[in-house]
Amino acid sequence: MTLYDFKNRVAVVTGSGRGIGRAIAIRLAREGVRVVVNAKKGLDEVLETVNIIKEVGGEATYVLADVSKREGCRSLIGKAIESYGRLDILVNNAGVGFYSAFENVSDDLLDKQVAVNFKSVVYCSQEAIQYMKDGGVIVNIASLAGIKPLPGLSIYNAMKAAVIQLTRSMAVELAARSIRVVGVAPGFVRTKMGLSYFKLLGLDPGEWARKHTLTGSLVEPEEVAELVVALIKIPSMTGETVVIGSDRWG
Ligand code: NAD
Repeated sequence: MTLYDFKNRVAVVTGSGRGIGRAIAIRLAREGVRVVVNAKKGLDEVLETVNIIKEVGGEATYVLADVSKREGCRSLIGKAIESYGRLDILVNNAGVGFYSAFENVSDDLLDKQVAVNFKSVVYCSQEAIQYMKDGGVIVNIASLAGIKPLPGLSIYNAMKAAVIQLTRSMAVELAARSIRVVGVAPGFVRTKMGLSYFKLLGLDPGEWARKHTLTGSLVEPEEVAELVVALIKIPSMTGETVVIGSDRWG
């Protein structure tokens, strides 16, 4: 059995200025992968991710680009090619969740959530596969919310479900080009986004986790990163989305 060899590989991780994306970027860099870090606006955040990668002996560059737009994805993928001459791994991680009762979802809120959570996966993957001549791996960060919906996040839930089905669809079509497509569906993760949900509802995250999760704790971003690396490594993994951090739904 030959596991995926991370040597000389290049990865793009969207939304890696903080949270789960940052943890994935650092974890890939620890494997020796050269990483292109990205955020829409947060220059300080991306610089911090790049610095951490350099501190652990890795190599990274960054691009500020809005991946909800085709142009943003094009410039991000273009930077990988310009800097490192190749692209092997794309992690579609950037996402936003805006809390609103379904009846009050405005056109603007709808458009933003469709664009950041779903269109970005299509745009960045299409731009990336042009350069994956010797095959590659695409990892889509979905959510447990795409399987078990959260109240107040109807559009987010629906887009994450769409990402899970897109992961299967892309895997079916891209297999012939030796490109694998896998997904990760985390429960609540200890990040700005994850914690903001509890803040909004006035809940204590620790208490909630003890009551509602099988393991009694929130997922740490580093755990998601570990799963991402495992999924990339395993040559027969494609099309599937793996849940991490199950709540007590089953
Ligand atoms: P976060 O808000 O802490 O970080 C999100 C990152 O994405 C930031 O760096 C932000 O700048 C970037 N980003 C947002 N919009 C962007 C855009 N248009 N272009 C480029 N970058 C953009 O969130 P997180 O918790 O780290 O979430 C990362 C992913 O994991 C998201 O897709 C999210 O839906 C998913 N997820 C999170 C949780 C959780 O509980 N935190 C659970 C399941 C899934």
